[in-house]
Amino acid sequence: MATNTTLTNSLIDIGANLTHKSLKHHLPLVLQRANNAQVSHIIITGTSISGSREAIDIATRHNQEQQNVKLYSTVGIHPHDATRHVTYNYREQLVKLLTGNKNIVAVGECGLDFDRNFSLPDDQRSVFNTQLELAREFNLPLFMHERSASNDMLSILEKYSQHENFHGVIHCFTNGTLDVLQKYLSLNLYIGITGWVCDDRRGKDLAKLIPHIPLDRLLIETDAPFLLPRNMPRPWPSQNEPSCLPYVVKKLAECYSVSVDEIAKHTTENAKKLFKL
Ligand SMILES: [Zn+2]
Repeated sequence: MATNTTLTNSLIDIGANLTHKSLKHHLPLVLQRANNAQVSHIIITGTSISGSREAIDIATRHNQEQQNVKLYSTVGIHPHDATRHVTYNYREQLVKLLTGNKNIVAVGECGLDFDRNFSLPDDQRSVFNTQLELAREFNLPLFMHERSASNDMLSILEKYSQHENFHGVIHCFTNGTLDVLQKYLSLNLYIGITGWVCDDRRGKDLAKLIPHIPLDRLLIETDAPFLLPRNMPRPWPSQNEPSCLPYVVKKLAECYSVSVDEIAKHTTENAKKLFKL
């Protein structure tokens, strides 16, 4: 998908759900298009035990074939999935998955989501705490999700951030206030921005907050197949995929009043540093 922006730096999509049924069945094409759009690395989001296993398998198989786009994965349990994991030995399963695979670059997607409460809040807290401990044990960054739960999230994170190897990203930052954003930044966290910001209507408040994120803390992601960047020319593709990432970059460049290459340079450097790519 060509854009009218000229990018010389490569891009890193720090969150794509390539295990989703709409993407995993045509991965070669999806990755070919990503490569054409200057996307050099993609981190596949793991959201459950089975989903994380699948994400690792995709990354491992793909990287053995030495493709142009490098794939990595996270290992974790999404807050929506907390309740269905809490009844069995999920910690042991996570440890098994986290042990000895060089394509794993973060613990997550983990966190709290009190917006829809698909899992009981107490289960969410418990499964999140376990993953915070595992990130510390394995010295991995956290890939975190938070929706309508910033107070609880911040009080949990303040405790864990006392440890020197605490590091990570609040992925898909969307509806938070300036105050919440500044609190996450004060915990030395990175902020992940998706195509949500490209939506003139619902992304308007987020677009105003963007310049408050220092460029050395900014990360970009598609969250594909969700959140298609709505600044893409029509006709829109049926779903989001990593090749749409340049449109997030384009919007961010407008928010900061800098060039797209400036955004690409910083976000790629930041992703390499945080995830040790
Ligand atoms: Zn999320």
